[in-house]
Amino acid sequence: MSKVIIRVKDLHKQYGNFHAVQGISFEVMEGEIFGLLGPNGAGKSTTLEIIETLREKTSGDVWVNDFNLDESPNEIKKLIGVQLQTSGYYPSLNLTELITLFAGLYNRRTDPMELLDKVNLRDKAKAKYKELSGGQKQRFSIATTLINQPKIIFLDEPTTGLDPQARRNLWDLIRTIRNNGTTVIITTHYMDEAEVLCDRVAIIDRGKIIGLNSPDKLIDELVASGFERPREVKKANLEDVFIHMTGHELREEK
Ligand code: ADP
Ligand code: MG
Repeated sequence: MSKVIIRVKDLHKQYGNFHAVQGISFEVMEGEIFGLLGPNGAGKSTTLEIIETLREKTSGDVWVNDFNLDESPNEIKKLIGVQLQTSGYYPSLNLTELITLFAGLYNRRTDPMELLDKVNLRDKAKAKYKELSGGQKQRFSIATTLINQPKIIFLDEPTTGLDPQARRNLWDLIRTIRNNGTTVIITTHYMDEAEVLCDRVAIIDRGKIIGLNSPDKLIDELVASGFERPREVKKANLEDVFIHMTGHELREEK
């Protein structure tokens, strides 16, 4: 039996008169990869940042591992891993030094090499962040979420802007992190990604959840409603062609 690790109830966020999050409720189960999907401006990042204790909510309730956000934000902070703003990646420091610095902020002792191994960046231990490829930057950013050995990590559009190989490589990494016992909440614009990666997804539009289920069930529901694709579906798509021709192997050129 899996347990609820995040519970969000009737969450609202207003920026002045603008109602960005309009009463959303959902639960995330321990060990899940849970996706928040929605167009730009839907309220995904706002929702994540409220749960992460980084943004004030207007109203509603949030519990993380049974800790109430209003009562125990510091307990919540200890349980979660968030992607730090890249502005904190001091340009003169290499990856090992950055990890040591962040570990200090979390008051944790960390073996930087062990962490870099987890995201396959051992070779880049002495490189600076700006010297990394797009995929390597994202892997490093994910490594920083793992420093405090969190129960839950939050990934806000981790694959935006990556090439198909780097995207697949990141999916493998995210699955490995989950298989090692960490719950993952991820936002994405890519529906193919959500379909293969997420156990369940919430579809958010204009601050409201308009669908919540496993990708499979959401597709079944649509089909059951009589929906048909407007044209015959081919057995492959252009991305399949691209991957078939260029291979799965990860490229690290900038
Ligand atoms: P998403 O991550 O889904 O793209 P966001 O949560 O970033 O959406 O933003 C939701 C809405 O709230 C957008 O219309 C955005 O312009 C607005 N918004 C976000 N942050 C602020 C802010 N600090 N002040 C005013 N409006 C904001
Ligand atoms: Mg966003």
